[in-house]
Amino acid sequence: MKFENQMQLKFDSLSINESFARSAVAAFCAQLNPTLDEITDIKTAVSEAVTNCVVHAYPKHLGEIEVWVGLNAQTVTIKVKDWGVGINDIEQAREPFFTTKQSDERAGMGFTVMESFMDTVSVKCEKNQGVEVVMTKKLHGKKTAVCGG
Ligand code: ATP
Ligand code: MG
Repeated sequence: MKFENQMQLKFDSLSINESFARSAVAAFCAQLNPTLDEITDIKTAVSEAVTNCVVHAYPKHLGEIEVWVGLNAQTVTIKVKDWGVGINDIEQAREPFFTTKQSDERAGMGFTVMESFMDTVSVKCEKNQGVEVVMTKKLHGKKTAVCGG
């Protein structure tokens, strides 16, 4: 698919960077004039996807997280990628309440939240290549002209 505008961020897998990624994606999407609800949905989904990379992808060391956003007409496409340990069974991981980290903090609801706030969520994991989550959402706000120059 061809995108009218794109941006990409790469940062260390530190939890402090989760709010940075969430705010940066929201700021980039602002040019499509999203409603407050739409921007909240996007921020929540990005937050869950990035938190998963921080919490699960690199258990033993710091790693890199990439967030890419593409805009096409009124549709936002967001890719969140890591190069960490990967997921054995994606179908199982996506089930509500499934978690490999049994603690008070993790409810196993991250993928379920992404699915409920975005239109589509795809999860890919190739052996030793980490996890790639791609999410899309069509916005219904009025489009403003994107300045060239
Ligand atoms: P919560 O998101 O509610 O805090 P959670 O992170 O365990 O809990 P999900 O976000 O739904 O729940 O993820 C389900 C499971 O998928 C995780 O417990 C983990 O095993 C696996 N997982 C998710 N993202 C990644 C990732 N980027 N790398 C490795 N494993 C992952
Ligand atoms: Mg999670």
